[in-house]
Amino acid sequence: MPEQPRLTIQGWGRPTSPRDATVTGGREGDDGTLELAPFPDLAEVLPKAARRHLTKELGWTQRPTPPVPVSEIRLAPSRLAEDCRQRLGELLGEEHVRTDRASRLEHAGGKSYLDLLRRREGDASDAPDAVVTPGSTEETAALLALCSELGVVVVPFGGGTSVVGGLSGVDADDRPSVSVDLGRMASVRSVDVPSSLVTVGPGMRGPALEQRLERDGLTLGHLPQSWEFATLGGYAATRSAGQASTGVGRFDDLVAGLTLATPSGVLELGHPPASAAGPDLLSLALGSEGALGIITELRLRVRPRPRTRDYEGWSFRSWAAGLAGLQRLARHDLLPDVVRLSDPDETRANLLMASGPGARALRGALRARRRSGGCLLVVGWEGLPPLVRARRRAAASVLRESRAARVGSRVGESWRKHRFGAPYLRDSLMDAGLLVETLETAATWTALPAVYDAVRGALQESLGRRGRTPLVMSHVSHGYPTGASLYVTVLADRDDDLPIQQWLLAKRAATDALVAAGGTLTHHHAVGADHRPWLEREIGPLGVDVLRAVKQRLDPRGICNPGVLLPD
Ligand SMILES: Cc1cc2nc3c(=O)[nH]c(=O)nc-3n(C[C@H](O)[C@H](O)[C@H](O)COP(=O)(O)OP(=O)(O)OC[C@H]3O[C@@H](n4cnc5c(N)ncnc54)[C@H](O)[C@@H]3O)c2cc1C
Repeated sequence: MPEQPRLTIQGWGRPTSPRDATVTGGREGDDGTLELAPFPDLAEVLPKAARRHLTKELGWTQRPTPPVPVSEIRLAPSRLAEDCRQRLGELLGEEHVRTDRASRLEHAGGKSYLDLLRRREGDASDAPDAVVTPGSTEETAALLALCSELGVVVVPFGGGTSVVGGLSGVDADDRPSVSVDLGRMASVRSVDVPSSLVTVGPGMRGPALEQRLERDGLTLGHLPQSWEFATLGGYAATRSAGQASTGVGRFDDLVAGLTLATPSGVLELGHPPASAAGPDLLSLALGSEGALGIITELRLRVRPRPRTRDYEGWSFRSWAAGLAGLQRLARHDLLPDVVRLSDPDETRANLLMASGPGARALRGALRARRRSGGCLLVVGWEGLPPLVRARRRAAASVLRESRAARVGSRVGESWRKHRFGAPYLRDSLMDAGLLVETLETAATWTALPAVYDAVRGALQESLGRRGRTPLVMSHVSHGYPTGASLYVTVLADRDDDLPIQQWLLAKRAATDALVAAGGTLTHHHAVGADHRPWLEREIGPLGVDVLRAVKQRLDPRGICNPGVLLPD
């Protein structure tokens, strides 16, 4: 199997092995961490027209703002007492308890804009005091019981791609913390082909699972943009959604059962194919973000690999027309497996920023239909050829009734090919002095237009001061019979003096606005530390009390990821 890519301390998937570093001009530091070559200059990754557009729209001056060298990141000494370290070593083996600088830095926080800003400024105050790697459910359960006894906070670590502060390890009592890296539990334990079930370890990543399933002609089909790095346990802990979730379902829908190790014991949850034995406790573990315990095994629903794939682009004249078109598809149960409707700003940015055959095909098709801009819809169907043909034909007739124009397969295929690329661009944009972050929500078809206006308005107002105009781009990323999710990307000139404050204010304004307009606090990124203050508005004070009572029973000393999910 090819070597897995690794996230880097300050960005997204820059090479970290010395071999790769040689290729990109990086070098290994004295302490084992890697000094990396700077990201490619923006000129290499963005066409000139796009850079000109950003300069004009955002009032942004391109300037080099590289991260501090990794060797200069500030890291406090580990607070883990020697006797605690010893007890952990006796339990897991010395080699599975690490307090070295490189390990702690690699497990510091996640990959939100704020996480990256902190690391780029040289701040690793959220780094764990140690990194431990249990190898089984039994070891994990024993580890949790021991940490509970010792008063050590435990933060499960999957792929480290949280974008909501899920790994920040905040603890009101300021106890020492360990990051529990699940990388040793990353194998396929069994494949039950007749039942379409696969049993896996939580640390496994999507690409490795798909490679294994291919042998049996199966697929999981969960493809978030973080697919190269995130883990299956992380998906379950955050209730992730993938790019094809409209068709195959969210990750919640793919979990048939799981094992949750807690300080109070081990829970086996879920009973496929279905059960009426009381309320489904599996739902309590999904989205629990490590606050109730650690997921140590998952039983997942898989399906036959698709025999055919069809991706194509359509164009609507306006956002309202696009939403109405999707709603009509949803009402007739004709939503494709992949649905992505970009608003006018995102469509325009795609046209400017992309220089490949997909963008050329879109420009050509729009010209031929005497359209400019509008809203691009990318749709994709996967499965058995006759079914794909029939679904596609039926959807096309609904889209035409909705006055959409077909802009071709090359547009859809190009999107498919480049769909994991944006996070790499994010690092180069940050290197050039830009604020770049995303947020997401979902709402009913009725509430969605108001939610869209509210988020845009809040971001524009918050980031638009002092002559700056942010670029706020949105798309519908998943469709449901009752509504859809909205994914928002924002670009703005970064305030070099107070970059963290700048985003905190904008994020607060946007979240207040979307919740007030009827959107959910989060459709698939989870609550983490960043969304905690709003949870009560979503589930009510009694709902929060119920969650607290469950946590109290499973985790009486509150050592399980205390900084996430539940408000202070
Ligand atoms: C560039 C980028 C693109 C992204 N795109 C998407 C997307 O398309 N769709 C989407 O849903 N999300 C996306 N995300 C968010 C992120 O990838 C998801 O939240 C993902 O599910 C996290 O998985 P992970 O393995 O990296 O978990 P981590 O980041 O390691 O952990 C996330 C949270 O879950 C807890 N946790 C992790 N593993 C376990 C476990 N085994 N048991 C209990 N708790 C655990 C952690 O303590 C933490 O609170 C994206 C993130 C980035 C940076």
